Amino acid sequence: MIDTVTIEKTLVSNSRISELDMENIQFGSYYSDHMFVADYRDGAWSDCRIVPFDDIRVSPAMSVLHYGQSVFEGLKAYAGSNGEVLVFRAIDNFLRLNESAARMCMPALPEEIFMGGLKELLQTDRVWVPTDEGTSLYIRPFMFATDEFIGVRPSDTYRFIIFTSPAGAYYSEPVRVKVEKYFSRAFPGGTGAAKAAGNYAASLYPAKLAQEAGYHQLIWTDGLTHQFIEEAGTMNIMFVIDDKVITSKGGETVLDGITRKSVLELAREWGYTVEERNVSVREVIEAIEKGSLKEAFGTGTAATIAQIAVINNDGQDYQLPPVADRIFSNRVLKELNDIKTGRIEDRHHWNVIV
Ligand SMILES: *Cc1c(COP(=O)(O)O)cnc(C)c1O
Repeated sequence: MIDTVTIEKTLVSNSRISELDMENIQFGSYYSDHMFVADYRDGAWSDCRIVPFDDIRVSPAMSVLHYGQSVFEGLKAYAGSNGEVLVFRAIDNFLRLNESAARMCMPALPEEIFMGGLKELLQTDRVWVPTDEGTSLYIRPFMFATDEFIGVRPSDTYRFIIFTSPAGAYYSEPVRVKVEKYFSRAFPGGTGAAKAAGNYAASLYPAKLAQEAGYHQLIWTDGLTHQFIEEAGTMNIMFVIDDKVITSKGGETVLDGITRKSVLELAREWGYTVEERNVSVREVIEAIEKGSLKEAFGTGTAATIAQIAVINNDGQDYQLPPVADRIFSNRVLKELNDIKTGRIEDRHHWNVIV
């Protein structure tokens, strides 16, 4: 049992919901009417409130703008068939936010503020959860440093916000990815395991170069030798070689994805051999050449499964098997979608019901 939290509410006088074309939602361009906000000062979180989604006032000296203490999460809520809202594995996002915060020298958020704020916000903006097949409400919790001070030190004050954004049916074309052998996303002792804004900032330039070369994303390799595969863009990466599901092991250079965890759990239940270990670029290329690589895909909240069509390594494109033939990832995608929307029994108790 967790404590409940008192949330002050200021509601909009006119909802913007009628501006939203539910049939044709552009991801990341619409925000629900309200947001949840809490502030950290004098060593404690306080002032939990739900207010209209709006601009926030920022001092030019606000420390996050200069030194980047900022962490975030991304998760999704789905409309269940009986009017309830299902949020997929929200507790795991809460725990991971606090792990990211610790690495960035930021304070932990109590569970009752994260979960209580999230539930209250979803109840308040219930009408913003899209109901069409494949749609969801994307949830963005984040925390940032708010001291008006430009000396270099951890901020004394922070703000935590959750806002939500309706997301249309996500269809991602199978992607072309390029193995990155120079730039690094993460390295031992670095911040790769944290969902920190700065990691994203540092990844934009290498990703842009890959896009200019005709690829959607990079495959990040380890920062020391560039021989081992770590992630694909902003997703975890998995391969099915022979009948084994293989992925780079977690640890400090890989973001511990909640989709990754869920996919591996299902794979084990279905009797697949799962290997979490170092995966070398060479092993993957050899498996493609031998025909033993059956599937390659990214995993993450946005797409759930993003199929990889082409891998480029050292200037050469390798074409992967047709998506229609990929038994494991197609099955896993369907199973996860069915669990998230309540179409099948949630036997792992992954959904938080609002
Ligand atoms: C968020 C993220 C993922 C995927 O995590 P999910 O919890 O599955 O959404 C993978 N890699 C990176 C770098 C990320 O930031």
